[in-house]
Amino acid sequence: MNLPLITRAEENNEKIAIITDEGAFTYQDLLQISSRMATSLLKNVQDLKEQRVAFLIPPGFEYVATQWGIWRAGGIAVPLCISHPRPELEYVITNSGAAIIIAHPNFEDILRLIATEQNLRFILTSETLPDHVGRLPEIDITRRALILYTSGTTGKPKGVVTTHQNIQAQVTSLTTAWEWTSSDRILHILPLHHIHGIINVLTCALWAGAECQMLSKFDAETVWNRICDGGLTLFMAVPTIYVKLIAAWKTTSSDRQKSMTAGCGKMRLMVSGSAALPVQVLEKWQSISGHFLLERYGMTEIGMALSNPLHGQRYSGYVGEPLPQVEVRLVDESGEIVPPGTPGEIQIKGPGVFLEYWQNPQATAKAFQDSWFCTGDIAVVENGNYRILGRMSVDIIKTGGYKVSALEIEEVLTTHPDIQECAVVGVADPEWGERVCAALVLQPQRQLKLESFRGWAKEQLAVYKIPTKILIVEELPRNAMGKVTKPTVVELFRASSVFN
Ligand code: AMP
Repeated sequence: MNLPLITRAEENNEKIAIITDEGAFTYQDLLQISSRMATSLLKNVQDLKEQRVAFLIPPGFEYVATQWGIWRAGGIAVPLCISHPRPELEYVITNSGAAIIIAHPNFEDILRLIATEQNLRFILTSETLPDHVGRLPEIDITRRALILYTSGTTGKPKGVVTTHQNIQAQVTSLTTAWEWTSSDRILHILPLHHIHGIINVLTCALWAGAECQMLSKFDAETVWNRICDGGLTLFMAVPTIYVKLIAAWKTTSSDRQKSMTAGCGKMRLMVSGSAALPVQVLEKWQSISGHFLLERYGMTEIGMALSNPLHGQRYSGYVGEPLPQVEVRLVDESGEIVPPGTPGEIQIKGPGVFLEYWQNPQATAKAFQDSWFCTGDIAVVENGNYRILGRMSVDIIKTGGYKVSALEIEEVLTTHPDIQECAVVGVADPEWGERVCAALVLQPQRQLKLESFRGWAKEQLAVYKIPTKILIVEELPRNAMGKVTKPTVVELFRASSVFN
């Protein structure tokens, strides 16, 4: 039996699946190229049997055909992030135990080196695919499909493993709630190593038989051009993207503003998520576009859990109610369910909840309480609607929709020869949600400028993890136990002139 995603695609054969700068690709193209990719991956075996295949390909048709090719060959897809420097790519490749790396020629230099060092099979997307399709294995939907790396409060990022069944549950929940159909056309502008871009946009679109227009990278003007063209029905983004689109709208002529507004008016739904949507952004966007953004809440480990309704009243500052197939409860510190109006930790159950952290049974066990997944987010229910109050750990920072670990960044920063110790915090910011900020204690008689510091950090960390503000301090604020008091560090930034 084929994977349901494939069977559904076969029903949409002639329809356009993907549009990129290179042209339009039908579902048939996707099926054909992914089956040839699967044939190439299989080489002399009948089934990859959950071998991990790491791939680094810019957004576009090749990305999708490769992801499907890996699935159809029985492998686990491990998407790499195009903005990651070598140490982070290496970490994901090593931690996932990838046996094969697939790279777009843009990334050949860096990835071929890693593949050679680790003795992994290396495939370039520019290589000619076999012109025949071999016998592809049958894939049971309970098999592992995807590993996405996500930051936690401890240690390095963890690999979140989802099965085909988990993905199917995440996708059917959303396509049902938001009434996706094959007539939908969505513009894809989100990263393709993160759940929002992979599941909510790409896979939902392809599951529904819809059209997914992919931009190779985000650019506010290009997005507005596409919106003005008027063919889109859906748009999904993180709050930071809406802030950037608003900024671009403000600086353009009134004629163009009118056409931007008209383009938005042709869409049926615009969604925000992955970070808190500030009420001012929601209101400004409403005045520009006429859309009251639908805010939803979710997480790599669980898919989407809470959503404002497609039809009916949406409330600003709230993330609505549980989505189909998702059970949600709020519990206090002793694990007891809290009454409405009392804040508690969000815990989730349902078929969309991930299988495990990759080869980390301890972390997996710790993340569940009585088979409920503990999100680490605090919420309260008011008039039947969930409102997110924040995270249980100050060490998780949400910047531009990316989840980053303060501890992971601190570990890297302390390897800088001029830095003695440091504390990394997220400071509230209207554009980024939170900005990554670092208070640094320097080695005696040393100086450090933001620019040179950032230049150094770029070699070690993904761009979105690099502190954008630094503050040199004599010592870090600590409590009686000697633990750094992060809220005081946040205050230091708020009070200082570096934060303007
Ligand atoms: P990720 O796994 O990278 O998608 O990050 C998931 C985290 O993003 C959640 O645990 C929340 O802390 C945060 N998050 C997602 N959606 C929202 C939202 N609508 N409002 C506030 N925080 C959100």
